[in-house]
Amino acid sequence: MRYFGNVEVGRDVGLDELRTMYDAVVLAVGAPLDRPLGIPGSDKAGVIGSAAFVGWYNGHPDFQDLDPDLDTPAVAVIGNGNVAIDVARVLVKTRAEMATSDIVDYALDAVQAGSVTDVYMFGRRGPVEAKFTNVELREMGKLADCVPVIDAAVLPDAVDDPGLSDRDARLKARNLATLKEFTERDRNALPKRVHFEFYAAPVEVLGGDRVEGLRLERTRVADGRAVGTGEFFEVECGLVIPAIGYRSSGIEGVAFDEREGRFVNEDGRIADGLYAVGWAKRGPTGTIATNRPDGQAAAAQIVEDHGSGSDKPGRAALESHLDARGVRRVGYRDWKRIDAAETAAAADPAPRRKLVTLDDMLSLLDAG
Ligand code: NAP
Repeated sequence: MRYFGNVEVGRDVGLDELRTMYDAVVLAVGAPLDRPLGIPGSDKAGVIGSAAFVGWYNGHPDFQDLDPDLDTPAVAVIGNGNVAIDVARVLVKTRAEMATSDIVDYALDAVQAGSVTDVYMFGRRGPVEAKFTNVELREMGKLADCVPVIDAAVLPDAVDDPGLSDRDARLKARNLATLKEFTERDRNALPKRVHFEFYAAPVEVLGGDRVEGLRLERTRVADGRAVGTGEFFEVECGLVIPAIGYRSSGIEGVAFDEREGRFVNEDGRIADGLYAVGWAKRGPTGTIATNRPDGQAAAAQIVEDHGSGSDKPGRAALESHLDARGVRRVGYRDWKRIDAAETAAAADPAPRRKLVTLDDMLSLLDAG
């Protein structure tokens, strides 16, 4: 196994070139981009998709300069998935609660210096349809400075959807029980609140150049879909974070399914010798455990399609190609050195302090 870091397909080597060098090329590029919100006003400053926002606090080099304006009392997070929960809790946790995380310092400082007291989590469907998992939801009830707020009237007595599998029905029932516990909390007991707002679909981002609020339509669920009721309401907020799912970035020469946000493929096969796995194959759902079988399936397909031997040059050709183009490639041992430096720089109990820029990473390697 050889690791080629700091190499970008499409910039340093073309996909067509890679395919002449290797029998099989597997696209495991994930889904790093935001699905567009696509409502009037969603291009205003202060509308920041969750991929960018999460990238910012996680120290992704592409998003380090995002500089979200957190000097606002209220933030609207759109979506009811685990990413929405991830974003909401980063906005309301205390510094001490973040101590065991590897959030980058600039983001932690910005959040702690900000004035956010109220985070609204808007779901266009109801509590039973919400996609967050129970461990993540329960954590919202255990925060040091923040209470979950929910209107008891929107919660059904029980999960009543014959279309759900037994397992899903159990998971939904657990979420419902947790949300019921939340209704008993005193909304003024702590300085911050996360408001769970169900049956609310965003229709317009309000304000001038910058976000000043969000207009939403009340919904009901019919045949599993959110349907507008014609009743509208507004919330004031200085930041809108759509956490409505991700999409893969296209690669030149590979057909892309815009609606599903993934490469066009048939059970992972894109073309002869070209495969996709994970979110690039199936769209942006599931965690590592859900995606792992894709790797096994692709390996089996490669053996089936190309297991009888090869006359392609493989890594030697890639190395000469990159050398001829003057590409500075980083190997696995280099990656381990960056990893060791980040771990050594961590302030206990954080697991690591990340290097955020490519320059910093390469300088560390140059330093020997
Ligand atoms: P997700 O689970 O698919 O949730 C997306 C949410 O956005 C849904 O509530 C969806 O509502 C809503 N939505 C989509 N389009 C919308 C629109 N136009 N207007 C309003 N709402 C809209 O996606 P995710 O949160 O990005 O998570 C991706 C995957 O990563 C998930 O499988 C998740 O479990 C996983 N993940 C796991 C963890 C963890 O385990 N801690 C952390 C992060 C992510 P509808 O249901 O009505 O479509």
